[in-house]
Amino acid sequence: MNVLELARPDILALEAYSSARAEGGGETVLLNANESPWPPHGAEHPWNRYPEPQPAELIARLAGLHGVAPENVFVGRGSGEGIDLLVRGFCRAGRDAILTSPPTFGLYAVCARVQGADVVEAPLGADFGLDVDALLAAVTPAVKLVFVCAPNNPVGTGVARDDILRLADALVGRALVVVDEAYVEFAGSGVDAASVATYVGEVENLVVLRTLSKAWALAGARIGAVLADARVIGLLHKLMAPYPLPAPCVEVALAAMSAEGCRAMRQHVEVTVTERERMRRALEGLSWVREVLPSQANFLTVRMQDPEAALTALRAAGIAVRDVRRYPRLDDALRITIGTPGENGRVLDVLRAVSPVRNCAVNKTLAEPRA
Ligand SMILES: *Cc1c(COP(=O)(O)O)cnc(C)c1O
Repeated sequence: MNVLELARPDILALEAYSSARAEGGGETVLLNANESPWPPHGAEHPWNRYPEPQPAELIARLAGLHGVAPENVFVGRGSGEGIDLLVRGFCRAGRDAILTSPPTFGLYAVCARVQGADVVEAPLGADFGLDVDALLAAVTPAVKLVFVCAPNNPVGTGVARDDILRLADALVGRALVVVDEAYVEFAGSGVDAASVATYVGEVENLVVLRTLSKAWALAGARIGAVLADARVIGLLHKLMAPYPLPAPCVEVALAAMSAEGCRAMRQHVEVTVTERERMRRALEGLSWVREVLPSQANFLTVRMQDPEAALTALRAAGIAVRDVRRYPRLDDALRITIGTPGENGRVLDVLRAVSPVRNCAVNKTLAEPRA
């Protein structure tokens, strides 16, 4: 079966917008896009020109990094744009659906609802791990995309590669499995140890989302990649904005992914993972912390007796953490990103001094008489 049989027929039939830059053929005098012939004031770069719609050098670099062919790579403004384009390409409004495992990244459902697609849910297992059988049982003919956040956000649980491959295999011809690897560099034993990117192309319905926003420290540049079967990438080309990636952002990204940049990234990932485990031990030592949830990502989600008090104390100290209490099964939790060792130390100082130690030590004794 052709994986595109899952796509929206009207998009398959659509003739894509053809930009001037895409139609060019290596000419040196460019009078086809109504650009200024002069570079902008104060810049040496040719930013008077429209950028490549899909910058070849960036695509080649990302393909090399992730072990896929360039034809398997789409680059957009963050992986968020990839999520949006996939939903738009595969879900017919009012008819199709996506499948997610809450608690998980909220953007999947938002993109689906904007598109008028339904959101089917198969919750994560008791330990916040992926429940493949529950997902498979929840797949209906309407479900075109199954989103797997691996490691998950807002709980940093990892997902075993075999679970993802079993899910994808079982859904060939029925749905795409979209694996969001935003945090995968922080998982497993090396920056790419836990990724399923190398299976892209081999498993036709497997799609992997990667981003430069987290481990690569480029959230401000807005660059993310969709790795998928070449036919899926072709479909995304039809849907994309004419020139999604600003040229300055592409330059910054290429510099960050140089050999030296890779070393810096790995070193920061290593520090982050070490700090994550230090923070885990320290937080587990606080009497009013109920549970530090397992994390393979660059954050810890912490269930506590009085999250409001912790949030207030952190805010008063000028420290922002994420209130994740609106998510199912996390109504007593905060999500704390791992910062520099100094920043993490400040978080611990504030939390050690926070009043729940006194108030909640009492509550805890009342709630759990065995203590
Ligand atoms: C941060 C994050 C992303 C990254 O989004 P970008 O648009 O690439 O910045 C993607 N998925 C999840 C689950 C995230 O937490």
